[in-house]
Amino acid sequence: MAILLGAIADDFTGATDLANTLVSQGMRTVQTIGVPQTDLDLGDAEAVVVALKSRTAPVTEAVSASLEALDWLRHLGARQFFFKYCSTFDSTPAGNIGPIADALLDALDDDFALVCPAFPANGRSVYLGHLFVGNQLLSDSSMKDHPLTPMRDSSLPRLLQAQSKRRAGVIPYPTVTTGAEATRTACDKLRAAGISYGVADALTDVDLLTLGAAAANHKLVTGGSGIALGLPANFRHQGRLDEPVNPKLPTATGPAMVIAGSCSEATRGQVDHVRDLWPCLKLDVDRLANGEPVADEAVAWARDQSRATPLMIYSSANPDEIARVQATHGREAAGTLVEEALGWIAHDLVDGGWRRLIVAGGETSGAVVSALGVRGLRIGPEIDPGVPWTETLDTPHLALALKSGNFGAEDFFSRALEMLP
Ligand code: ADP
Repeated sequence: MAILLGAIADDFTGATDLANTLVSQGMRTVQTIGVPQTDLDLGDAEAVVVALKSRTAPVTEAVSASLEALDWLRHLGARQFFFKYCSTFDSTPAGNIGPIADALLDALDDDFALVCPAFPANGRSVYLGHLFVGNQLLSDSSMKDHPLTPMRDSSLPRLLQAQSKRRAGVIPYPTVTTGAEATRTACDKLRAAGISYGVADALTDVDLLTLGAAAANHKLVTGGSGIALGLPANFRHQGRLDEPVNPKLPTATGPAMVIAGSCSEATRGQVDHVRDLWPCLKLDVDRLANGEPVADEAVAWARDQSRATPLMIYSSANPDEIARVQATHGREAAGTLVEEALGWIAHDLVDGGWRRLIVAGGETSGAVVSALGVRGLRIGPEIDPGVPWTETLDTPHLALALKSGNFGAEDFFSRALEMLP
């Protein structure tokens, strides 16, 4: 069966965020890790989100990966395409948002797309083409000092035009609040004037729903996950999408484990919460850095535990401990060592029969998913805001919850596992 919506996301957790939004609007959604190089059964997916690592990649690489994803999504029959970037428009004057959007429009033989990174639930809003983070302009927010993509301007048309060969205009708030018809007319006017990007204002989810409705016939929509809120309803009105379905929980049964590499405050609270409930092992990063077989020892320890109870292997540490480890072994080296060790442990324990995994940490999740060779995930119900249960498409099917560091309530780990059959 052909899919309806094909999305290309410029990073892994951004892809999950978008997939989660589509599922919340009743669309069956699969997230793939890049473009699968061999056949992958997508089941009854109505939307597919391809997670790329194109946000800070060299421009030519980012563009060609995005075009490869577009080709595959077209081959799957997608009727509409979505380019997902960060709600803080993370990019540099060299790209990659502009060059990717240009290349997608060229490949689709089209000349207009909405641009809207607004995500009101997380404090990102767009007013008169300017992006705000909470009460501050983007260029006054902490994003001005981001190590890879410092954002020193808040004007989205200016940011975009610096990266793009096309022109950008604004669809101002009074137009958006007038409704979908007025917004559609504004898009048509920009298009007729040779302006390819309509930077659309949005302060609330209602505005995002209006923009979604106005984009019903657009081939390409670009933005944060917010502007995708209104897209499933378009397919429903067109009679292509059934009434909302409740997402299905993963069916995988088997031993459960938590792998925590995040040192964020929320994760540390979650780790503390289960420390006395389940068997837990903390990795010794100093020994790891000295080349001792810490990962093998952790696997052997886990295999000795009862499989009836979940277990946790973690490296999460408080800021003082992290500072000391980083001063001794180097920030990047320590991070990579820990990520590789946790990936290796997850891989070995899945080999040993573990089937239900919660992973805490964005980078850690990336490392685990790549160590497991995961190609695709069916997105299930939400555990806490922004974190759904997922199930791997390849066999053996695994239940995977990939949690960005600061997400989730204190009892996240136990509550997530209690949701499973
Ligand atoms: P978050 O989502 O909270 O940012 P990430 O997994 O993205 O979590 O990042 C945490 C980083 O910290 C990873 O690179 C991880 O390997 C590293 N790390 C984890 N534990 C330690 C530790 N004890 N000492 C030093 N670095 C660590």
